Amino acid sequence: MTKQEVLKRYFGYDSFREGQEELIDAILSGQDALGIMPTGAGKSICYQVPAMMLEGLTVVISPLISLMKDQVGALNQAGIPACYFNSLLSQYEYYDAIERAKAGEYKIIYVAPERLEIDSFLSIAEECEISFVAVDEAHCVSQWGQDFRPSYLKIHRFIESLPRRPVVGAFTATATQRVRDDIMKDLRLKSPKTLVTGFDRPNLYFETHQSIPKTDFILKYVKAHPKQSGIIYCISRKQVEKICSALCEAGFSATRYHAGLSQEERRRNQDAFIYGDKLVMVATNAFGMGIDKSDVRFVIHHGMPKSLEAYYQEAGRAGRDGLRSDCILLYSGQDVRINRMLIDDNDGNPDLSESEKAAIRAKELERLKLMTFYATMTDCLRDYILKYFGEAGCGKCSNCSNCLAESEEIDITMESRRLVACVATTGEKFGQTVLLDFVRGIPGEKLKLFHLEGKKGFGCLKDVSVRRLREILEYLLRMGYLRTGEYGKIMLTERSHDILSETVRMKVTKERKKRMRDKKTERTAANSDLFEFLRQKRSLLAKEEAVPPYIIFSDRTLREMATEMPLNENEFMRLSGVGSHKCEKYSGEFIPIIREFMKTH
Ligand code: ADP
Repeated sequence: MTKQEVLKRYFGYDSFREGQEELIDAILSGQDALGIMPTGAGKSICYQVPAMMLEGLTVVISPLISLMKDQVGALNQAGIPACYFNSLLSQYEYYDAIERAKAGEYKIIYVAPERLEIDSFLSIAEECEISFVAVDEAHCVSQWGQDFRPSYLKIHRFIESLPRRPVVGAFTATATQRVRDDIMKDLRLKSPKTLVTGFDRPNLYFETHQSIPKTDFILKYVKAHPKQSGIIYCISRKQVEKICSALCEAGFSATRYHAGLSQEERRRNQDAFIYGDKLVMVATNAFGMGIDKSDVRFVIHHGMPKSLEAYYQEAGRAGRDGLRSDCILLYSGQDVRINRMLIDDNDGNPDLSESEKAAIRAKELERLKLMTFYATMTDCLRDYILKYFGEAGCGKCSNCSNCLAESEEIDITMESRRLVACVATTGEKFGQTVLLDFVRGIPGEKLKLFHLEGKKGFGCLKDVSVRRLREILEYLLRMGYLRTGEYGKIMLTERSHDILSETVRMKVTKERKKRMRDKKTERTAANSDLFEFLRQKRSLLAKEEAVPPYIIFSDRTLREMATEMPLNENEFMRLSGVGSHKCEKYSGEFIPIIREFMKTH
């Protein structure tokens, strides 16, 4: 079979997405590969297709237990023999799976990195040839990345212990050079084919709000988007509880997830969301790694995450099926303080020296600052994201809240000069809250303690709203007229002096234009009744087979089914996401519904 045939037969897709083919070709020719692609771009296909074409066994190393279960479920649905090795298996299941692997019953096995050192697992390699090792979430090997996992540092030993070195593929969504270098070095990749695809996800709409009543916003949004599945991320467990209760009390279908819940409840709630019994998941960032539910229509961040990497990864869980989805960030100044505290409190990896830890902390603070810029800026949000990830940017995307907002430029020279002057007169010792209280002339404990009341500049901007002052301060930080130092202190820079001779202008939002409507959604609206019937059928089948509905067919496939209305197997096979295994299994379930619908409509 050619790679195209494998893609259609098992996965139901007609063509490869950007980057997939190059990586697959490299792997098939025996070259190591490093694929850097954003969440939802389709990394799994890059190792699953070669796995089906190479002789022998493919081992996929993944840190995400929930993902393994999902992916193995999806592979089995597609007719691919696969299994996983992790703590979800009972001892009996584990040894049974080992025996089956040795007997050559599987093409792909997923394994948690901790298992790689266990003898019983290693015994698989003695009896069957491991031809390909794919390392998913490869950035976990780097101490500079987000999710460092010490066990990832041992992967290379496992690879070296194999009788014949397999081809090694590494995949991640984290693009920074440092992390990339660590992956190459620590996984001992040999002249890999490196491929970085575009980070843009055109079907995602980005929106930010500053200082608005967050709970109200969320309730209104969920009400305005009935039947849509979405995730609401909160920084703390307490906030998760609060928002989830507010949604449930208002009669919405919501559940929750955070590390304070029992493992049993977490699993139950996660399943309720994945299987579609609950529409909205309110969670801390403990939720979502490895969840590849494809029909998540919105991701709202109730609080700002600590970096744009984390934000883009979490927000990127929306719209994996390629349909239009919303990514909304609700920002307040409080978020910066909480994140700063989390960074300061994190003791980090005990194996690192104090100076290494300090360097990592400084890097995290820098990331937090750049995240804050995203939350508060008025230029194109997508452009900022793309540039952050090292791409050329897109200018104005016309599909984010800033591009769609009417904006005007205002002169902020006077306010900027006074703010900078006050940073100097107060000795560069204070953070945003104290500084703003000072220029607004608001007395308080700290101002008293440091004898700031009455000092030159006290109350010099009392007529400007605190919201506008915050915007201006963020702008000055972004433009480098000021900077944040240790503990969030606002400090002067080399550029601070220029403010005396420059005119400073800043773009501010007037009001938001009505959002573009998604043409595709409109077109399919006519078939929404049929879509609903097909969806009900999918839910029934999913329950019967105890798998999430999207593993049977994604929303995208169902929508196409509702528009194309296939009436025989040939037509059914043409749908994107329908391979021969699924066609055989499900065409007889869905085609009669389409026929019935056509008769009655
Ligand atoms: P990632 O691991 O990069 O976050 P996934 O591998 O989960 O992304 O893929 C995201 C979605 O895109 C999945 O639903 C997958 O089936 C789909 N997909 C992947 N490759 C293709 C393709 N060539 N054509 C259509 N859909 C694809």
